[in-house]
Order: sequence, then C-alpha cells, then structure tokens
Amino acid sequence: MENLVNDGRFTALLDAAVDGIFVIDSRGIVQVANKAVEQLLGYSQDELIGQNIKLVMPSPYRENHDAYISEYLHTGKKKIIGIGREVQAQHKNGDIIDIFLSVGTFGSAETIRFVGIVRDLRDLKRREAELATAQHEIHNLVNRLAHASRVGVMGEMAASIAHEVNQPLTAISNYAQAGTRLLNADSDQTEEVLSALSKISNQAIRAGEIIRGLRSWVRDQDDDREPCNCNALITEVVEIAKMEAQNHDVLLQLSLDPELPAVIGDPVQIQQVALNLIKNAIDAMSEGERSSKNWSVFISTERQGKERIKVTISDHGPGVGDDVADKLFQPFFTTKKAGMGMGLSICRTIIRSHGGELDFTNNAEGGASFYFILPTAVEQL
Ligand code: ADP
Repeated sequence: MENLVNDGRFTALLDAAVDGIFVIDSRGIVQVANKAVEQLLGYSQDELIGQNIKLVMPSPYRENHDAYISEYLHTGKKKIIGIGREVQAQHKNGDIIDIFLSVGTFGSAETIRFVGIVRDLRDLKRREAELATAQHEIHNLVNRLAHASRVGVMGEMAASIAHEVNQPLTAISNYAQAGTRLLNADSDQTEEVLSALSKISNQAIRAGEIIRGLRSWVRDQDDDREPCNCNALITEVVEIAKMEAQNHDVLLQLSLDPELPAVIGDPVQIQQVALNLIKNAIDAMSEGERSSKNWSVFISTERQGKERIKVTISDHGPGVGDDVADKLFQPFFTTKKAGMGMGLSICRTIIRSHGGELDFTNNAEGGASFYFILPTAVEQL
C-alpha cells in the first residue's frame, strides 16, 4: 500500500478522477483520499488520512459503520460492495450531501482494504427537483386549461341546456295548474291531485339531475386519477350531449364493448374529451348538406388487446379536408364562425397526459372518425 501511495503515477491517476476516491483499512481508517474528496467534502487530503471515515458520515451511517465492516468481515455478506447505493455524506461545514457510493475490496483477509468511490449527486438532485417542479406546473396548467375549456363548452351548449332544463320546469308548471283546477272542482279528485303532485316531484328530480350533472363539469377540481369504467363515463356524457344533439336534430348511437377493461384517469377530463369530440361531430353534421339516412353520430368503445381501449366518435359530416388535416390540433385553429379552435388541442393534451393518443381518420363512406386510445389499468400496474 505504502509503495502505491508513494508512486506519483498512482496518485496522479487518483487525483485526475472527478469522483471522490477513498481507501480505508478494516478499522475504517482512511489511508488514501484523492483531490476530488477535498472539493466534495471540504477536508484536505492530509486532514482525512489517518482519521476514521466516520468523520464524513452523518447519522445514522456514522453509528452503524463499525458494525457494517465487522459484519462483512465475519460473514462475507455484501450489502453495498459491488452494488453501490445512494447515501449521504457530511461536509466539513456540516452540510449533508447526497452521494452515490460504490465500494470494492482488495487484499487478503488479514490485509483487506476497502475502496470507496463517491459521486456527487447534488447537481442531479437539483435537476430532478427542477424537473419535478416544472412537471407539476405543466400538470396544473393542463388542469386549468381543461377547466377553462369545460366551462367554454358549457357556454357553447348554453342554449341546449336551457332548453333541456326548461322542459321539466314547463311540465311542473302545467301539472301545478292542473292540480289547482282539480282542487277547485266540486267533486272529490284526490287521486288525480296526488298523481299530479307525484309528476311534479318527478320532474323536479329530473331538473335537479340535469343541473347536478353539469355542476361537476364547471367545478374547478384537481386532476383526480382513479380506475374508470369508460362505458359508464361515455353513457353519462351522452346524456349531456343529447341536449345539443336534439337541438340539431342529430341522433346519438352507442355501441359499448361489455368487456371493456378499466383505465386509470380523471373521469371528468375523459368525459370532457368525449363531449368535445361529440360536439364537434354534431357541429360538422350541422354544417353540411343533410342526407336523409344515417343522420347520426356513432360512439363506440372497444378493447385493443389487454393493454389499450379505444373510444371512437364517428360522424356523417364533410370529413376533414387535406388542406386542414395537419392544422386541426394546433391551438386556435378553427373553421367555425364562433369557434375558439382550442378544443382538439386541449383534448389531445389531456389524452397524452393520460399516456394515450388522440387522432382521426376520414371514413370511406364520408364523414370523420375521431378516436382516443388509453392504456388500461393493467398496463399501468
Ligand atoms: P373549434 O371547435 O372551436 O373549431 P376544435 O379544436 O375542436 O375547435 O376543432 C378545430 C377544427 O377541427 C374545427 O374548426 C373543424 O374545422 C375541425 N374539426 C373538428 N372536428 C371535426 C369533425 N368531426 N369533422 C370535420 N372537421 C372537424
């Protein structure tokens, strides 16, 4: 060992290394420390040589180190040797530093030495933290965008929603008038009055359901990932979309795969994408010449192996022209008079943030099919 330490070529080699390098004996006493150690831990090479390596270890490594060495010497069981591990070191000024420590051994049982190579992880950790913050900010931005877009879609559908809510309200008013007339009549009409009251109650429940269904849409909520059954989500969203479809005289047809596996996602955001695509399909069909047959939007769910599901919204509109095909997903691209052009770009962002893909194809028989593919819960386990 001494020969090596005194060999200028050996020390030059050690000092050229960017990582810190130590050699300690079986009691933990430092025999060799290179220049990089000085940079990393603040101690000069002379301050370290002859000291126990515990000097640069914070708790609990400091208290446990003797036991680690003697356990290895007795059992030969390797906990860190040859594997390496992320641990912490303590700088001379007291700072705790994240490091990656690789350990090797050389020498015979009596003269065993441990070599430690210490990599500074501070830059890496800093970059990881910056990345996590940036990802968190992007995540929040996507949520805020998604929320703004949901409110926007609701605004665009306001006329249809008002019409839908108006129906039970009109019915309630009619039944109430009928009830008043019955009560004013001479003969006993208790049965009929009770029936009118029950209808009023049912219609009030219906109006409440419509409003409740919409409320979760406009609520600003965090991205809440959970296992979702897309069939149930699509069925619910079709109830909302029906209001808009009826207003444009369009039928919505559903075909749901009964064996559809669950996906992990935010249910409101997945519904938002489906509603946006259905609304675009209705818009597309309201634009063109109306053909007498097949005036419906076809919505389907299907399995794609065990790992993917696909939701397709197919229409009988004009389809997507070659001139606009590569612009559709760009923010603010719209061909509609009152369009914002944000829908598809936000939908694609939402689906990609769920690990999926959103795209379209033109149908051979006319119209377009927009679809999104999502990984199933199985895929993400
Ligand atoms: P907006 O609906 O506000 O225009 P989108 O991003 O949802 O914003 O859509 C962008 C454009 O994509 C639409 O203006 C339309 O030209 C086209 N588009 C979307 N869906 C369809 C569809 N089903 N068929 C044909 N074109 C479509």
